[in-house]
Amino acid sequence: MQDIINNLPKLAKDKHKENKSFFTKLKKKPPKQLDYVMQELHEEEFNRTDCLECANCCKTTGPLFTDKDVVRIAKHFRMKQQQFIDTYLRVDEENDYVLQSVPCTFLGADNYCSIYDVRPKACSEFPHTDRKKFQQISNLTLKNVAICPAAFNIVEEMKKRIKL
Ligand code: SF4
Ligand code: SF4
Repeated sequence: MQDIINNLPKLAKDKHKENKSFFTKLKKKPPKQLDYVMQELHEEEFNRTDCLECANCCKTTGPLFTDKDVVRIAKHFRMKQQQFIDTYLRVDEENDYVLQSVPCTFLGADNYCSIYDVRPKACSEFPHTDRKKFQQISNLTLKNVAICPAAFNIVEEMKKRIKL
């Protein structure tokens, strides 16, 4: 898995032009059954991908923390919300709460998330390949294929299955 992760930025760069053109067409005319196809591709890919062998998202990019995430996770640690924010988070250029540093401080050496049951919504949804109206997050997906091997494979499969 580590070899795949190491090669991913180059592979994604090589595919970038093709992917961009595909998503431009997808946005213009998304097929009616897109939500259904994405659900299927997502399930197929994650049935054969073990995130515990990877954790590249947790190691290289952190999630955004919504206010609800902060309330839930601070409660889990029995911390005051401000204390949790001061200890773990910072405000980024877009005014969102993000981790102070990556790899994520909640990631264990065994790739387990120590706050899995209360993890941020963005973590539980990453890489968002089963979300509805997938064409709306094309720009984000173009970036995610360089981080997430599963997202990379899903986009490759999309290009085979969806003829635009
Ligand atoms: S979601 Fe993607 S990047 Fe994150 S651990 Fe799973 S395969 Fe790796
Ligand atoms: S909170 Fe958990 S799932 Fe989210 S980035 Fe950190 S270790 Fe990964």
